[in-house]
Amino acid sequence: MEAIYQKLGIDEKVFLYGQKFERELKERFEEIDRTAEYNQLKVIHAMQSHRVSAECFMGSSGYGYNDMGRDTLEEVYAACFHGEAALVRPQITCGTHALALALMSNLRPGDEVLSPVGKPYDTLEEVIGIRPSKGSLAEYGITYRQVDLLSDGTFDLEGIRKAIHERTKLITIQRSKGYQTRPTLSVAQIGELIAYVKKIKPDVICMVDNCYGEFVEQREPLEVGADMIVGSLIKNPGGGLAPIGGYIVGKKACVDNAAYRLTSPGLGKEVGASLGVIQSFYQGLFLAPTVTASALKSAIFAANIYESLGFPVIPDSRESRHDIIQAVTLKSPEGLIAFCKGIQAAAPVDSHVTPEPWVMPGYDDEVIMAAGAFVQGSSIELSADGPLREPYTAYFQGGLTWYHGKLGILMSLQKLYEAGLVIL
Ligand SMILES: *Cc1c(COP(=O)(O)O)cnc(C)c1O
Repeated sequence: MEAIYQKLGIDEKVFLYGQKFERELKERFEEIDRTAEYNQLKVIHAMQSHRVSAECFMGSSGYGYNDMGRDTLEEVYAACFHGEAALVRPQITCGTHALALALMSNLRPGDEVLSPVGKPYDTLEEVIGIRPSKGSLAEYGITYRQVDLLSDGTFDLEGIRKAIHERTKLITIQRSKGYQTRPTLSVAQIGELIAYVKKIKPDVICMVDNCYGEFVEQREPLEVGADMIVGSLIKNPGGGLAPIGGYIVGKKACVDNAAYRLTSPGLGKEVGASLGVIQSFYQGLFLAPTVTASALKSAIFAANIYESLGFPVIPDSRESRHDIIQAVTLKSPEGLIAFCKGIQAAAPVDSHVTPEPWVMPGYDDEVIMAAGAFVQGSSIELSADGPLREPYTAYFQGGLTWYHGKLGILMSLQKLYEAGLVIL
């Protein structure tokens, strides 16, 4: 084993450092496997109940009327995530698009959106208009209010109660921490928050940005009262195979609104050819529970290694997990860059290229991204990124297989070791 790692550029010292932690993590990994087993059966059950068959993989072109594969997949998603209806389309280009679609289609001028969990994901700032942007909700007269989490990471219940009024139409709850260092919310916590909000205003739409959270737990937010969950197919539910796409699952009225906005009033879900990608959506969903488990193991492995070396990690080495993101604070630009270079160097694709910081559309600071992915930008595949700003935190996620995740982390450690940034 050491020899093959050495062939890939991992020194014996680095390899042995990793082995120690892997042995200690055996029990936690078994727990993750049990969640994966449950979720695998959930997906298979949804596929069986909706009679998925070979004809579902044919795809359609043009208008895409009566696209059986597309319609059946949406029923499978609805069943799997406990929604009344689903919109799962290659025409939804990314997670931000899915979220923008869910918001813009369910809000009208004069309505207000509330985020009771603090600042949303960077790209949503322009969708909402927190940062002025063409086509934002703000331009359409939809206002926004935010209540931050308390300093201990819990909900500011009093602040939330005060922030809800007659124009509050929708609350948006981001499950994952995204590019922040707040804790990720568990499904149980999301349920408590929704129950609290619904008691104050029963008809408010509760939307959950589910990005990175799918299949991490046995339950999903629709099971604890959410009206709509939204996410990207190049993250967990695409299982690494979907080459594009986003989803919205939830109440039929919410999903219908989104469909009329995505295509056209009057047309809704009836159009939208699935082209040649529909089989990969099915296969990706089928693999998603085990792929998510691999990503989780990789994240926990990284937390344990880097915490032991004195780098702050969120979540920490022992915490329970509610998404697949691991934040590792490298404390210097050199550290962040070395970490990302290691992830890149471990990739099956583009391992020979060197990631450099750049200004990405939708982001405020320079960002460095490492990804040697089969699907461009896919972050269920092993990837790391982080804004070049204090305290130089890398957000590490993915790993289609645990063994690749392990190699990536060992390679990141190798790069830090070579740069003299850690002593083993
Ligand atoms: C990734 C992500 C998004 C945006 O998805 P993109 O596909 O990158 O547009 C939104 N919210 C959260 C929490 C995310 O992790």
